Amino acid sequence: MINVDFIIIGQGISGSFLSKYLINAGKKVLVIDNSQPYSASKVASGVLNPVTGRRIVSTWMIDILLPFAFEAYMNFGEELGINLISQKNILDFHPTPKMKLAFDERQPVENKYLRYPESEKQYQQYFNYPFGVGEINPCYLMDLHPMLSGWRKKLVAKNSLFEEEFDVSMLSFSNSQTPVYKDIQAAKIIFCDGTKGFDSPYFNLLPYAKNKGEAVIVEIKGLPRTNIYKHGLSLVPWKEDLWWVGSTYEWDFKDLNPSLVFKEKVEQLLSLWVKLPYKIIDHIAAERPANLERRPFVGFHPKFPNVGILNGMGTKGCSLAPYFAKQLVENMLSNEPINPLADIKRFTKILSR
Ligand SMILES: Cc1cc2nc3c(=O)[nH]c(=O)nc-3n(C[C@H](O)[C@H](O)[C@H](O)COP(=O)(O)OP(=O)(O)OC[C@H]3O[C@@H](n4cnc5c(N)ncnc54)[C@H](O)[C@@H]3O)c2cc1C
Repeated sequence: MINVDFIIIGQGISGSFLSKYLINAGKKVLVIDNSQPYSASKVASGVLNPVTGRRIVSTWMIDILLPFAFEAYMNFGEELGINLISQKNILDFHPTPKMKLAFDERQPVENKYLRYPESEKQYQQYFNYPFGVGEINPCYLMDLHPMLSGWRKKLVAKNSLFEEEFDVSMLSFSNSQTPVYKDIQAAKIIFCDGTKGFDSPYFNLLPYAKNKGEAVIVEIKGLPRTNIYKHGLSLVPWKEDLWWVGSTYEWDFKDLNPSLVFKEKVEQLLSLWVKLPYKIIDHIAAERPANLERRPFVGFHPKFPNVGILNGMGTKGCSLAPYFAKQLVENMLSNEPINPLADIKRFTKILSR
C-alpha cells in the first residue's frame, strides 16, 4: 500500500494550484490526470477581465481576486522559471452605438476599471471602429499552457503524477473513512475534475450547468501584442503571430465539436473589423465546468468527510481557481473557514440525500 496525504483528481488550473499549495506546505500529493487534450484549462484564452456582461459590471470579489491572482501567477512563474502573467488591457471596440452608450454610462460608476484610451484614433491602421473604443484596465493575460505543462513536468519529476483515467468505481473507504484507490491510501481525496464532476457519484447532485465555448486560432502578422482587442468577440495574443478569437457561451448544445456556424461568425467579424490579412490555423472547443449560481464548489462532502471538491469555476477559472485553492488548503491545514458563498456546505441537504 502506498500512503499519501492527498490524492487530487485533475490537473487543470484548479488541480495545479491545489497541488502546488499542498506540496509547498510539505504534503505528499498524488495527482491523477488523463491528459485530455481539450479540457477547459487548455482551450481557455487565459484572460482576467475585471468586468463582465453587457451591463459591464465588476465581477464577483474582483478587488480581492485580482491582486491575489497577480501574486499567485507571479509566484507560480517563479517556481517554474518562466513568466506566466502580463498586463494586457482590453481595447473594447464598441460594436454598436448602443454599446458605446452603455460603456459611457457605466464609465463614471466603474471608473476603477473602465477608461478611455489616450488617443481614439491610434488603432485606425489595424481596425475599423465607427462607434469608438473604450479601455478595460487593468486586465491580465495568463500563459496557461506553459503553466500546465511546466507544473506537470515538476509533478512527474517528484513521482507525484499518474497519467491515467481515474476510475471512481475503484474508490473505497476504510473503517475510518480513509479513501483507498487501488493500492493507494490517502488522508483525503479532492476532485478537481472539471466537467467530469457532472457525472461523479459524489458530487453529481450539485447544480452544474454545462456550457460550451469555442475559439478559432488565427494568424495575423503585424498586430501589436500589447493588448487584448474586443469587438463582441475577443482577439487575444496567443503564441508568436497567432491570436485566439472567441468565445461562445452555449447552454444548449448537442456535441463538443467546433461548429461551422462559429467559424463563419469569426470570419465575418474579422473581415469587417480587422484591416490586416488573417489566416485560420485551428478551431477548438471545450466545456466549461459552470453552474447555475456562478459560484465555485469548494469543500467537503457531508457524508464522506475525506472527499473534497474544487470545481465549478465556470467562465472565471483563471481568477477563482488560485484563490479558492488557497482557501481550501488553509481550511484543511489550519481550519480556516471557506467563503460560505463558495463552500459546498450550502448544498448539505442536497448532497446528504
Ligand atoms: C473557450 C473557453 C474560454 C475560456 N476563457 C477563459 C478566460 O479567458 N479566463 C478565465 O478565467 N476562464 C476562462 N475559461 C474558463 C476556464 O477554462 C475554466 O474555468 C477552468 O479552466 C476550469 O479549470 P479546472 O481545473 O477546474 O477544470 P478543467 O480545466 O476541466 O480540468 C479538469 C482536469 O481533470 C482531468 N480529469 C477529469 N476527469 C478525470 C478522470 N476521471 N481521470 C483523470 N483525469 C480527469 C481533465 O483531463 C482535466 O485535465 C474558458 C473556458 C473555455 C471553454
